[in-house]
Amino acid sequence: TISYQQRAYSDAAQKALARKPALFINGEWVASSHGTLIEVEDPSSGAIISHIVDASVADTDRAVAAARVAFDDGRWSGLPPIAREKIMLRLADLIEAHADELAELEAIDVGKPKTMAHVVDVPGAVSHIRYMAGFAAKVGGETVQPYTAPGSAFFSYTLKEPVGVCAQIVPWNFPLLMACLKIGPALAAGCTIILKPAEQTSLTALRLADLIAEAGIPAGVVNVITGYGHVSGDRLVKHPDVDKVAFTGSTEIGKLINKNATDTLKHVTLELGGKSPVVVMPDVDVAEAAPGAAGAIFFNSGQVCVAGSRLYAHRSVFDSVVEGIANTAPFWAPRPSLDPAAHMGPVVSKEQYDRVLGYIEAGKRDGASVAMGGDAPSAAGHYINPTLLVDVNPQMSVVREEIFGPVVVAQRFDDINDVIKEANATQFGLAASVWTKDARTLHKLASSIKAGTVWANCHAIIDVALPFGGYKESGIGREQGRAGIEAYLETKTVVMKL
Ligand code: NAD
Repeated sequence: TISYQQRAYSDAAQKALARKPALFINGEWVASSHGTLIEVEDPSSGAIISHIVDASVADTDRAVAAARVAFDDGRWSGLPPIAREKIMLRLADLIEAHADELAELEAIDVGKPKTMAHVVDVPGAVSHIRYMAGFAAKVGGETVQPYTAPGSAFFSYTLKEPVGVCAQIVPWNFPLLMACLKIGPALAAGCTIILKPAEQTSLTALRLADLIAEAGIPAGVVNVITGYGHVSGDRLVKHPDVDKVAFTGSTEIGKLINKNATDTLKHVTLELGGKSPVVVMPDVDVAEAAPGAAGAIFFNSGQVCVAGSRLYAHRSVFDSVVEGIANTAPFWAPRPSLDPAAHMGPVVSKEQYDRVLGYIEAGKRDGASVAMGGDAPSAAGHYINPTLLVDVNPQMSVVREEIFGPVVVAQRFDDINDVIKEANATQFGLAASVWTKDARTLHKLASSIKAGTVWANCHAIIDVALPFGGYKESGIGREQGRAGIEAYLETKTVVMKL
């Protein structure tokens, strides 16, 4: 039997929870223009454990003004690249030095196992800053020979310049990792930033602000404001002094942000939702593919944009793959985030809990059968058992829509061309994984599936060096790798008559 009792918090975590709610603007902790606060909940217990500021429009304007001045006076972009690189590396070292505290705060705030935050979220955050720091000194333009003029007529070259003031709006599933994924390339490019974490999970972004100051990033270069999307987030997207918006979150809000950014024609990058297919071919080793498919969906309680939420297994292996996934139920059984035995925690909030269970009920009503889970343990936190639905069809909402919880739907196929068609029959195009030992099958699937990333015999291998982003309604633009830094640079062409 599992105890759903959350463990005691460490002294460091208690100190972070007891801090006075404030916003990080122009290098200082400041109070809001009004007194409204947002409750912080531990989803493992349902307890309210702290409060954060609900930033107003006036607060947001103050943060934008600070970022604007800091950009325009060149206090960051004007530093020698070696200095920016060094400061960023110091920030990466500081995050690493606080790994245990940050992993615990993330576990408490999101509900993810602390053990997982330790091996995924914190090292991931560190590598985003460290890798991007290297670009500070390595971005540059080129000399270009005009096509229609003799070489002696003109001298022309391009300059790479930072885009400017960037609003970075991040979701609740990987708060620290997403924050660092966003600020890393922007800082390397020489931009200034207003970071808005999700209202559900702001604790690590606030601690990050402390470390940003300690690392020596000049005041006003990174501002962190907590608050609701429709208030402070919306103001950032519409503010005339913001040059770029980078957003990760739902496709619904991504579309709204894209529309709202139009009046001021901001640069926009969007990393949105998915309904990623996992395709299991008949030649696989089921003992490897089934736990792989289980991990593809149950990791982080399925609250992953690339979650492998649609499973397509060849008829000849379908039953054994379903059985193999169902056998992982004890491993993925949800536990409190600070339980060292946890591989999966609760979902992030009551809202998500209701939403995910609502989808499971809709699936059952539509005729789906439950091969695993399908319910929730009775506990104070927002725990949902890992769930596998079979007997589904492409019309069901559980097959079409992003559930963003520990729920996978499994379908059979006979022919590779049919599964390609099914895999692509979605508005999304973020990622996919294919499981096969045959190189030709693998390449056929990899080239035919319309998705920003295709994994073979693995899932959700995401690395700062690898470009990441979505086809179709899963996003606009790419983050990470060289593409990631390019998204924060303008190209200026200079032409001189000789
Ligand atoms: P969301 O898209 O509403 O929120 C993400 C971020 O956007 C938060 O910081 C939020 O405050 C902000 N935001 C919300 N409305 C805004 C607006 N009008 N203008 C500017 N910023 C705004 O996501 P959610 O409500 O936290 O989750 C809802 C669903 O989104 C989930 O069930 C899931 O399907 C999806 N989701 C996807 C990802 C992903 O990585 N693809 C991450 C989180 C959630």
